[in-house]
Amino acid sequence: MKSRYIALPKGVSEKQFSKAIKEFRSILGDENVLVEAEQLAPYTKIMMPVDESEHTPSAAISPASVEEIQAIVGVCNRYKVPVWPISTGRNMGYGSAAPATRGQVVLDLKRMNRIIEVDADLCTALVEPGVTYRQMHDYLRENKIPLWLDPPGSSALAGIVGNALDRGVGYTPYGDHFLFQCGMEVVLANGELLRTGMGSIPNSNTWQVFKWGYGPYLDGLFTQSNLGIVTKLGMWLLPQPPAFKPFVVRFNEEADINKIVETLRPLRIAMIIPNAVVIASALWEAGTFLKRSDYYKGSGTIPDADVHRIMKQHELGHWNVYAALYGSPEQIDVNWKIVNGAFTAAGGEVLTEEYVGDDPVFRYRRDLMRGDMNLQEMGLYNWRGGGGSIWFAPVSQSRGSETHKQMAMAKSILTEFGLDYVAEFIVGWRDMHHIIDLLFDRTDPEQMKNAYACYDKLLDVFAREGYGTYRTNTAFMNKVADTYGTTQKNVNQTLKRALDPNGIIAPGKSGIFN
Ligand SMILES: Cc1cc2nc3c(=O)[nH]c(=O)nc-3n(C[C@H](O)[C@H](O)[C@H](O)COP(=O)(O)OP(=O)(O)OC[C@H]3O[C@@H](n4cnc5c(N)ncnc54)[C@H](O)[C@@H]3O)c2cc1C
Repeated sequence: MKSRYIALPKGVSEKQFSKAIKEFRSILGDENVLVEAEQLAPYTKIMMPVDESEHTPSAAISPASVEEIQAIVGVCNRYKVPVWPISTGRNMGYGSAAPATRGQVVLDLKRMNRIIEVDADLCTALVEPGVTYRQMHDYLRENKIPLWLDPPGSSALAGIVGNALDRGVGYTPYGDHFLFQCGMEVVLANGELLRTGMGSIPNSNTWQVFKWGYGPYLDGLFTQSNLGIVTKLGMWLLPQPPAFKPFVVRFNEEADINKIVETLRPLRIAMIIPNAVVIASALWEAGTFLKRSDYYKGSGTIPDADVHRIMKQHELGHWNVYAALYGSPEQIDVNWKIVNGAFTAAGGEVLTEEYVGDDPVFRYRRDLMRGDMNLQEMGLYNWRGGGGSIWFAPVSQSRGSETHKQMAMAKSILTEFGLDYVAEFIVGWRDMHHIIDLLFDRTDPEQMKNAYACYDKLLDVFAREGYGTYRTNTAFMNKVADTYGTTQKNVNQTLKRALDPNGIIAPGKSGIFN
């Protein structure tokens, strides 16, 4: 008999599920409980090279308060129905809004979108999960609060809480979002409400200023995990500097990645360059505004000769380093001499806003480095077309030889499967996120197969060389968890069983099941 639902949670009968849905409706109202296929369309779209049916949710529900979430987890425990929490659900390239496994109920927190507090003196904020970067950006502008946000490339569309919980990155000096997070409120699977850090002290006014609290530091347990539903998140905001000097340094050879990183590392560690610098490959740059088919129509990876043609026509480096200086004009003058001197000595072409301010690629990088909204990067989806994208994101030491090795390994595997090396290194202090966008056409079964096999091989080969990935899409979460070994898996499972014995929160997130 055909089911009334487009999917059911694993091990839950239709009858039981209907009872749970009825209870959700009594808590949230009919309009906030979606079960029809067309209503669920936004929650079923994935960009991954697997069938959508593997990630189809059974329903989507949208609470408006902590109390409603507490009532929801009660229902979930009674009927063993799992929920997949999302904040704004724009985790594109990592699984979007769809759950890790078929049949979970998407718990969409978009209606909880209050900016609870911004403290302009302490430069802190406390927000609910549904707050988007755009909303916060506009709030700061409208209220003339001189603080900067740190958005990701998907800026205006995405949300602050979901990004920080997935340990995402941006491009100002506050680029490591979990590092600049401070204090959380979490609904646990048993319905209890935990405030982490200083938030557990009644009447505390230090929740958003001191991260560590007392005893074991718990916030990390609720990132990239399924141990709770985060309902508030504290964060630090960057005071708008009196002066800001963005620049790009272009290097023309692939092997230059080695000297770029050797030049950058000491400048980053000494915080002479304070922001999360990006070293973007030629095809990343090109992909944001060009179509591949205008340059190459053959099969397989785009040949290097065509990449060079694109570089020449559009004045792109093989590597394009985007960084900025922040502070008083005097500080910037001093640091600029150091930075300009170091990159010029390394053979880079150093260009400031006066020369490249009109270039749309420079503009989007500049915007992100000063906390503005910009969606130029969404252009990557037109490079190949067909809506397929997954990020491969291994971590590298900030060392030239290591980045060169990772680049060569990745390029050779991508070429084997006919995919392009569309990549960037995001420079932390001592590490780099090597972000590679596997772009493919989801309507072409051959490309789907290749993209899946390519990602799988990248994981295998990189793990064999000792490289772990920092974040992954929902189709590969188990495999990535395996690369981190049995002990870590066991610890995660022990925590999961203790805090969520019925496995009602996001089973499968980061490969963690009961
Ligand atoms: C062109 C492009 C550029 C991008 N650039 C960047 C970039 O520069 N940096 C970057 O980090 N990402 C980037 N992304 C990836 C992604 O869009 C962002 O990370 C985005 O912020 C994630 O979506 P979200 O903020 O809506 O989070 P959500 O999708 O809401 O959440 C992300 C995940 O966190 C968990 N989660 C969310 N809310 C909760 C909660 N309340 N409680 C418990 N768990 C929860 C869930 O597992 C969820 O899947 C980019 C994507 C695209 C398409």
